[in-house]
Amino acid sequence: MIPPGSTIGILGGGQLGRMLAMAAAQLGYRCHVYSPDKDSVAAEVSARFTCGDWHDRTRLAEFARDCAVVTYEFENVPVAPLAAIQQDRLVPSTRALEVAQDRLREKRFVEDLGGRPAPYAAIDADHELQGAIERTGTPGILKTRRDGYDGKGQWRLASAHEAAGLRVPNAGLVYEGLVRFEAEFSVILVRGGDGEVRFWDSPQNVHEGGILARSFLPPAEIVTAQVGEARELARKVADALQYVGVLTLEFFATAQGPVFNEMAPRVHNSGHWTIEGALTSQFENHVRAICGLPLGDTATRFGQVEMANLIGDDAGRAVQLLTDPAVHFHFYGKTEARQGRKMGHVTRVS
Ligand code: AMP
Repeated sequence: MIPPGSTIGILGGGQLGRMLAMAAAQLGYRCHVYSPDKDSVAAEVSARFTCGDWHDRTRLAEFARDCAVVTYEFENVPVAPLAAIQQDRLVPSTRALEVAQDRLREKRFVEDLGGRPAPYAAIDADHELQGAIERTGTPGILKTRRDGYDGKGQWRLASAHEAAGLRVPNAGLVYEGLVRFEAEFSVILVRGGDGEVRFWDSPQNVHEGGILARSFLPPAEIVTAQVGEARELARKVADALQYVGVLTLEFFATAQGPVFNEMAPRVHNSGHWTIEGALTSQFENHVRAICGLPLGDTATRFGQVEMANLIGDDAGRAVQLLTDPAVHFHFYGKTEARQGRKMGHVTRVS
């Protein structure tokens, strides 16, 4: 066990790190944030901050020496330089990052465990694009294998000839057929070092423009009916990776059952509702798991919970919601409200 009073290292400096650091502080831990961006909303609430490049092995090693355990709030941390850190100090292990950073590898990994992703085709060179689209069918979405998030690195295609004029990066891509889903949902679990797995209730998620807009509970009936199968897959993924901490898998609920979309080896936006809505939040349980403390109860505390992201200019308007006693307001302290940027969230419980 890593006792309270120890230092937890967090790779990444955004809002997930901020909420993780706040939960860690409540349990008596100090956090040390490592991020290449000097404006870090996680560093603002942490004891120490190292502003360093993801490829600076010397700084990474120096940072890790100060930490009893190092975790991630960002899954696209380059893996190779993490060799500078004592491997048993990295929790979860870098294997989870390697799988989740690459959409193709992630799909194959999940398929090997019996999961079903959207129909897809890998594209390694420009001339393969047309064939991949024709084989998989339209409409569909072309995605970069790496570094995409919040709808970035994605191109929707209604027909195969739309691909002709497309300017896409000359890197690995994957083309996915568009899934006709009735709802989207996520499975959020925490796995302890002893292999114990606990699940939160699965929220239904609504995305707008590729960005999560809302997560709510209880979800539609079709989601409730498919959560069991989705959890089974999520548990297999967590066990196969010997995962420790919070892991999230996103699914489409379709007439043919749950279709796997993607996974995140970290706390997740669709789990923010757990701060007020569950007995133990995803952030607290992530800290408990990586520090070897007993896991907290994940039960939902309310009949209805809804989390809405405050994106771009939404944040200013949301202050009026503070007069509603059922609403909990979270503002991440980002100074610039750029379009599409997650500025905060509100959770309404009843
Ligand atoms: P992603 O970043 O891949 O999770 O995509 C963000 C959102 O875009 C998803 O949550 C869906 O709402 C939508 N989306 C992505 N891929 C597909 C797909 N193959 N079929 C239907 N919708 C998709």
